[in-house]
Amino acid sequence: MVTSAAPSPRKRVVLLGATGSIGENTLRVLAAHRDKLELVGIAAHSQWDKLAAIARQFDVRHVGLFDDAAYSAARANLAAFPAGTHLVGGLSGLVELAQLPAADTVLVAVVGTTGLAPALAALAAGKDLALASKEILVLAGKFVLAAAKKSGANILPVDSEHNAVFQCLEGHPHAGVRRIVLTASGGAFRDWPAERLAHVTPADALKHPNWSMGPKITVDSATLANKGLELIEAQCLFGLRPEQCTAVLHPQSIVHAFVEFTDGAMLAQLCPPSMTFPIQHALLHPVRAPGVDSALDFTKLLSLEFRPIDESRFPLLRLARESMAAAGVAPAIFNAANEVAVAAFLASEIPFLAIPRVVEHVLSTVPNFEPADLPSVLAADTESRRLARLKILDPQP
Ligand code: NDP
Ligand code: MG
Repeated sequence: MVTSAAPSPRKRVVLLGATGSIGENTLRVLAAHRDKLELVGIAAHSQWDKLAAIARQFDVRHVGLFDDAAYSAARANLAAFPAGTHLVGGLSGLVELAQLPAADTVLVAVVGTTGLAPALAALAAGKDLALASKEILVLAGKFVLAAAKKSGANILPVDSEHNAVFQCLEGHPHAGVRRIVLTASGGAFRDWPAERLAHVTPADALKHPNWSMGPKITVDSATLANKGLELIEAQCLFGLRPEQCTAVLHPQSIVHAFVEFTDGAMLAQLCPPSMTFPIQHALLHPVRAPGVDSALDFTKLLSLEFRPIDESRFPLLRLARESMAAAGVAPAIFNAANEVAVAAFLASEIPFLAIPRVVEHVLSTVPNFEPADLPSVLAADTESRRLARLKILDPQP
């Protein structure tokens, strides 16, 4: 007698940051794999109408809005959501979604560090954490890792370079790794002469050559702060020493990272520059399934270039590396000051070249220490943000 195998259960996903760039790519992956993945919870900051459309499309009944006014507007328009929707608000609402009993995996793609509490809550509840928000690990990596260790939950990197390293490392003993090399596209100003950088506008900085992403990470790509954050993220995720974490300029964004082993052999992960590849890998891991976007096509001309990064053009990369080497709360200080400075640049309050000046000032002012607990890291974060704002309002040396 032939019996058909029972269908494998679908992985149930909560998506925080559903209306953003990572959110949209995640929805494409979810739509293509409805037999393997089920969206059970979504959240955003304020775009409640876009969130309602997603809830209807994927029949999601658990919905969160961080912003009070947006939460109230959504409450007043409950008819726009599927019948029986449970609507939650504020940070406590995001935490509630992250611990949803009906979820297996929580994908955190909220810009900045707001996702820290939900990420910790997800791990404490034993949910796997698919992590896009790199700022979370830079702020509080050791506490996030400890939470995962305690519950036995997995952290699956969504950031493309880290997802690439993760794939290259699978099955290889840690002791055999000499270093990792993350690739950097070089951002919007890769080929600009240094003297033009004094006059760039937010609109210039938001034109990324290869990737379509949210505004904060696009500016971070133009300053290479993004690569700096990623080196710190990698050091934390893969348990490496600072000097083992390196980066190279690769304008095509086809190779996402290399792992170099002690014998000199290197493994690389390649795919076109679309976030659907790492997102799908993280959500379906360890299962492989047809991708959403086309794979590389070697019947067409494909050339790959790699160049050293000129750090004199990108002081934020140097500051990030120095913060990583200093350890303690230095990465948290770097991240907080950078976040505030980028927001000020996007609001046309400071010029582009003032971003590293603000970050360097805050790093040299806030004392570094080895944090014993999360509240002391958060205090350093708050103080760094306060000093960054002061420097922005009064830029005199
Ligand atoms: P976007 O700016 O495109 O989207 C941000 C998302 O987060 C939106 O859904 C936004 O909601 C939501 N959000 C913002 N603040 C809050 C909050 N306080 N509470 C709840 N939701 C909030 O950003 P990206 O998608 O580009 O980036 C998201 C994260 O992923 C960042 O940490 C980034 O560094 C990381 N990342 C992004 C990559 C990319 O390709 N975009 C690549 C690798 C990492 P709303 O729309 O309502 O404002
Ligand atoms: Mg990246």
